[in-house]
This record gives sequence, structure tokens and C-alpha cells, in this order.
Amino acid sequence: MSKYLLQCLSCGAKITDNYTLDCSCGKGGFFRTVYQQKSFNPSSENTLWRFQEWLPVEKPASVGSLGNEKQIFEGYPGKTVVYKSVYLGKELGLKNLFIAFNGYWPEKNAKIVTGTFKGLEAPPTIRRAIEKGLRRLLLATAGNTGRAFAEEAAHQAFEVIIVASKSAQERLWTTQEVKEENVKYIALEKENDYTNAIKLGKRICSEIKIETEGGARNVARRDGMGTCLLEAVTEIGSLPHHYFQAIGSGTGGIAAWEAAMRLLEDGRFGQVLPKLHLAQNKEFAPIFNAWLERRPMITDADLTLPVEKITELFAEVLANRTPPYSVNGGVFDALTATQGEMYAISKSKAIAMSKFFSSTEEIDIVPPAAIAVGALVEAVNNEKVAANDIILLNITGGGLLRLKEDYDLVPIKPLITLKHPNDPLDEVSELLIKD
Ligand SMILES: *Cc1c(COP(=O)(O)O)cnc(C)c1O
Repeated sequence: MSKYLLQCLSCGAKITDNYTLDCSCGKGGFFRTVYQQKSFNPSSENTLWRFQEWLPVEKPASVGSLGNEKQIFEGYPGKTVVYKSVYLGKELGLKNLFIAFNGYWPEKNAKIVTGTFKGLEAPPTIRRAIEKGLRRLLLATAGNTGRAFAEEAAHQAFEVIIVASKSAQERLWTTQEVKEENVKYIALEKENDYTNAIKLGKRICSEIKIETEGGARNVARRDGMGTCLLEAVTEIGSLPHHYFQAIGSGTGGIAAWEAAMRLLEDGRFGQVLPKLHLAQNKEFAPIFNAWLERRPMITDADLTLPVEKITELFAEVLANRTPPYSVNGGVFDALTATQGEMYAISKSKAIAMSKFFSSTEEIDIVPPAAIAVGALVEAVNNEKVAANDIILLNITGGGLLRLKEDYDLVPIKPLITLKHPNDPLDEVSELLIKD
């Protein structure tokens, strides 16, 4: 008997997992994992597999293709590191500010080598796919997800097909050489944004019959990201009152909410869900706009920024035009359940926040993380948080400058580049079908 079932949040049915993304009821709600184990028992391991009981895999991954050739440092694939802030907390007048650092900062034992919390999603997602008999997965990415999955595909000897615009290419690299049998990158010309990559990815999946990884619909991705909150609770000893994160799809926010519900059920870590404080680029803020009016739908009026402007945003990776907002179990439900707040942070503010963070905490952070810092500052100024509240600030990515001191980054190169997401797929098909 499996250690978990999938429950459809539209019809309530509980089923055995077969890498299932959609319920046969056809109502479109998310699945959520229901684990047999109701109490929280993290192991002492130094990787995210310490939360294995609440990840949708039967066993943690063993080391695959790269491991045979190259020594993998202890602690791969890393995990979130949570610590109590001294300097940033002091600057903001916060007595209980905890930082969830997702990235590379070996001095603090932070060893996600791909530098963002997408490194929490890739290991359980690929492991789940292997256990369910899949040979490969396709994912569309704004860069950070592609990088995390590429690195992990090599480690677990799996195959990922990455679909991304060339505007994301600077974010596509690995820390070691990977083989083409593990990573195949299909590119779009740089005039395309992430949403066009999603469109092309969908076409490839349906026309060439390749399994999609599923994004937010994939319980392994959400539960993987949820380990960030689990890690925080092991460090703090209780649930935080507030959770700050920059979002594009909002998957991380949903994941924090779901992990918090599991901890409430355990009972030892508090009785109240953390309030979600989620942030976007001010210049492109569909979820912010919709939530401001408590609308359960995103409309076209929320999405007016032209594609060429999207690729110029401060945090382009947050520019998702089709987030899982209205779906049962999606962002609207998460914000409603936690009486959440949305923030929109301008480019100039975010640039200042990036400097503010690195000068107080002494580590570089990626653009989305600076947007989350901006949200925290705004919340302090508007008294949405109190000095003694327990606050968790999710630094979703950081330490890339630090990483470059230790690693030579290997760019992931496109096998083929298309102009437009609706281009014919003959050549792509040949590339993907040949093996
Ligand atoms: C993907 C990503 C986000 C947004 O995450 P979602 O919760 O999926 O919207 C934020 N920061 C970084 C660094 C990311 O890579």
C-alpha cells in the first residue's frame, strides 16, 4: 500500500497516484496529496529528503548518471536553510524575522547549486516520474526551473526536454557537463516570453506525445516547494505568523499553505495558518490586480503588457500570464484561506531592495527575492506586521555570485530554435523521436 493518495479538490475522490495530473471528474481542480503519516517527523538528513514522509515518492532518489563519474558533495540536492536575521531584522525593527534561504551559501550550509527554490521541486518531481515508469518529461520554463531540472535529470539519469525563450537563456546552465540524453533544450527566439514557451510546450506534448511535468498541477512540485515551510518549522519550533514570497504562478504560496495545513493537523506547531504575503513586479501584476478587488478570475485587462516589455521586467521569471489562480486549490483559495495580502513592487524599489538585502545579510539575491524584500518593507511601513510577529521571508534564490567562485557554469545550448510557438514541429519531432 502506498504511503499517500491523491485527492481531487473538485470532486473529493481519492485515487492511487499514477503520475496523475487531472481527475477523471473533468472539473479541473488540483489534486492534493493525502499522506498516511499525519505527524511531522523530519529526519536529521542534510537534504530535502529529510521530509520524505511528506513527499510523493516511495523512496528518495539514489545517485544516477553523474554520480558514477564525479563525486557528489555530501548534502546533494540541498535544502532550504532557515536562520534568524540579525541585521535586516534590526533595520526593520522586527524581533522575529526568519530568512528561508534557497540557494548557494556554503558558509551557511546552503547547497542548492542551481541557486533557487526550483531546486526543491526538481528532485521529488523526477523521482516520482521514475517511480511511475516515465522515461522523460517536458517542461516549459522562464529559466530557473529548467536549470534545476537539468541538473537533477543528470543526477538521477533521467531525460528532460526544456522549452524556453532565448530571453531565458542566461538562466539556463548547470554546474557540471550534462549529456544530451539527459537534457534537450528547444528554444524560441528571444522576442517570445515564458507564456509563449508554455504554449509551444503544450503543442509538443500533444503532437509528439510527450508527458508534461505539469507545473503547479504536479503534487511533487508543490510538496517539494512546501519543504521550505517544513524546514522553517523545524528551525523556529512553530508555524510563522506571516510568509513573504515573490510569485509568478503562485505555486510556492499554495505549497506553503498546504504544508501549513499538514502542520496544523499535527497540532504541535500552532493553530493558525500563516498569512500569505505574495508579491509581483508592479509593471506586470495580474494576481495583485485580481486580488485587490477580491476577484476570483484574472481578466485580459490584467494582462495588457506587451511581450517585448515582459522580457524587460526586473524579475522576468515572475511574468506568468496563465497562473493557477481560479482553479480549486489554487492561488485565490490560498489567499482566501490565509487572509492573504498581495504586493506590487516597482523596478526602482526592487533594485534598491536587492542592495539593501545584500548589504544587511551579506549575500547576493536573485531579482524575485528582492521583490519579496520590497513587500516585507511595505508591510512594515503599513503595519501589516508587528515587531514581535514571527515572520518568514522566503529568499527564493540567491548566492549566484558566491556560486561562481566555486563552480564554472556550463551553459545549456539549444538543439533547435523556433521563431514562433505556432511554427511547424517536424524538426522538433525528428529530434525527439530519434531515440
Ligand atoms: C519561480 C520563482 C519564483 C516564483 O515562484 P512561484 O511560487 O512558482 O510563483 C520566485 N522566485 C524565484 C527565484 C523563482 O525561480
